[in-house]
Amino acid sequence: MVILLTNDDGIQAPALRELRAALADLGRVVTVVPDRDQSATSHSLTLNRPFRIERPEPDTYALDGTPTDCVVVAMHGLIEERPGLVVSGINHGPNMGEDVFYSGTVAAAIEGALQGLPSLAVSLVASRTREVDFAGPARFTRRLVEAVLAHGLPPKSLLNVNLPVAAGEGYRGVRVTKLGKRVYRDTLIEKTDPRGRPYYWIGGDEPVWEDEEETDFAAVSHGCASVTPLMLDLTDYRAMARVGAWRLEP
Ligand code: MN
Repeated sequence: MVILLTNDDGIQAPALRELRAALADLGRVVTVVPDRDQSATSHSLTLNRPFRIERPEPDTYALDGTPTDCVVVAMHGLIEERPGLVVSGINHGPNMGEDVFYSGTVAAAIEGALQGLPSLAVSLVASRTREVDFAGPARFTRRLVEAVLAHGLPPKSLLNVNLPVAAGEGYRGVRVTKLGKRVYRDTLIEKTDPRGRPYYWIGGDEPVWEDEEETDFAAVSHGCASVTPLMLDLTDYRAMARVGAWRLEP
């Protein structure tokens, strides 16, 4: 079986090597990733320009596109055999709470689920400025992949996994969680370029989440691995009757 490995951190991400090694004997691991960092590109698809695909080594492809592009090209002819599973990650940085809407890592797993494949997105809750060891997170991801292959996932469902930086022996447990609530403190920074024109940068401090029980954030802040099942049906069924009562007919 082909395991499609992708990410949004790009071909240079150190996590790729660890993950490829950890998954190697579960199937044929084919890596299709962006050729550079595409973090926070969400579910964007490249439709308004052509793109190139490099193959630096067998079963490894790098394309100048988004994580979603990677899954789409893998499913539509780049790989002769249809993948049986999508693993996206391991992202260097958290993807918890509402951040799943911005995440390229999660988007690639969503694309896998849209294509009908069991899919998981895995992120390591560690600052981007810090060098981290992905060997433990890769081993945990392998266990998850084995569980997903054994039990399957419901259709249009995927797993969003966030792992704390483990101290010593590993995680203090595994919690099945709900998405937490992000406290947004982003700021718009205005500076002036050398030619006297303003430029802008979306910045802010390290992300913060509300401390609420049963959430992804609560799990990782207690040293536990967080596994959040996500579903693709975003319909707000509670709101259907309310909106229906608005008498929108002319
Ligand atoms: Mn990323």
